Amino acid sequence: MTKALALLSGGLDSTLAIHVIKKQGIDVIALNFVTVFCLCTSKGNCKLEAVKVSEKLGIPIKVINTTKSFLEIVKKPKHGYGKNMNPCIDCRINIFRAAGEYMREIGASFIITGEVLGQRPMSQRKEAMKTIDREAGLTGLVLRPLCAKHLEPTIPEKTGLVNRDELLEIKGRSRKDQIQLADIFQIKDYPCSSGGCLLTDPEFANRMRDSLKHEDVDVNDVKLLKVGRHFRIDSKTKVVVSRREDENLTIQNLAKDSDYLLHLKDIPGPLSLIRGNIDDEKLKIAAQLTARSSKAKYLPSTKVVISRIQQDFEQKVLNVSQIDPGKAEELMVKK
Ligand code: SF4
Repeated sequence: MTKALALLSGGLDSTLAIHVIKKQGIDVIALNFVTVFCLCTSKGNCKLEAVKVSEKLGIPIKVINTTKSFLEIVKKPKHGYGKNMNPCIDCRINIFRAAGEYMREIGASFIITGEVLGQRPMSQRKEAMKTIDREAGLTGLVLRPLCAKHLEPTIPEKTGLVNRDELLEIKGRSRKDQIQLADIFQIKDYPCSSGGCLLTDPEFANRMRDSLKHEDVDVNDVKLLKVGRHFRIDSKTKVVVSRREDENLTIQNLAKDSDYLLHLKDIPGPLSLIRGNIDDEKLKIAAQLTARSSKAKYLPSTKVVISRIQQDFEQKVLNVSQIDPGKAEELMVKK
C-alpha cells in the first residue's frame, strides 16, 4: 500500500489534505512539529490538537520538537523575516528537512501538507514553495492536495501513486472552499484553522527583536519573553514584571541562579525578575518598577524583598517609592 507522510498542525487545512489523500486509498502517517513559539490555541496546545485530530482520523502521529534548531534560524534567517519576526521560508525548510528524514525512515513515498497557494504572503507563493522544496531536498516529493492543480505535478502524481484528477485547486486567503469541504468530510470542530506562531505577533516580535539585539537568546529567554512587562535598563540588563498572579509562578520557575527576584514585603503584588549585569542602582530601579505595578504605587514608599533562587542567598529589603511613570515608559520594551 502506498504510504504518505502528512504534516499535521491540527488545523483545518492539514486535516482536509489528509482526507483528500486517504480517499484515494493511501495510507497516511502524521507528523507534527512544535516549538517554543507555538501558539495554536490560547493555551499553546498545538500538539494536543494534532494528536486529537490524528485520533479522530485513526492515523498514527509523531510529534517532533524543533525548538533548538529553529531558535538558531530565528536569530539569522537566510531568507529573511516576514511582517514581524517570522522567518517563514527558513522555518518551512527546517520542518521539511526533518520531515524528509522521517519520510525515508518510515518508507513513505511522499509528503503532503495542507498549504494553499496564496494563503500566506511569505511561504505560500509558488516560487517560495519551490525554494522550500528544493532547499529541503524534496523537489517533487511535496504534494499539496488542496491546491495541487495550480502547481506542477509532483512525482507521486506523475508515477500514478496519486490521481491528480481528484486533487483540488483552492487558492487565496478565503476560507470558503475549506469550510465547504469540511462539511463534505463531516469535520465538525476545527479550533485552530491556520496554526499560530508568536513570531507573527507584533508585541512579541518587538520583544524578540530587542532581545536578539542585546543578548545571546536561549530557550529560557524566549519563555520569559512570553510573560510580564519587559523593561530594558541597559544593553545587558532587563527587568520583567508579572502582570497576573499566574505569571508569578512562571517567572519564579524561569529564574536562573544569576537572576534576582523581587516582591513586595507587605502587600500582595507582582513578582519581578532582573537579569543581566546587576548592581545596586539597577536593583533599585527593578524594585521601583515592581512598586509601580502594584497598589504600592499609591503609597509614599514600600518595602521590596530581593531574593535569589540560590539557597544560600540572604534576602535584602529595599524601601522605595514607585518609579517615575515617564521613566518607566522610557524603559519599557514597547509594542
Ligand atoms: S508563522 Fe511561524 S511557524 Fe508558521 S511558517 Fe512562519 S515562522 Fe514558521
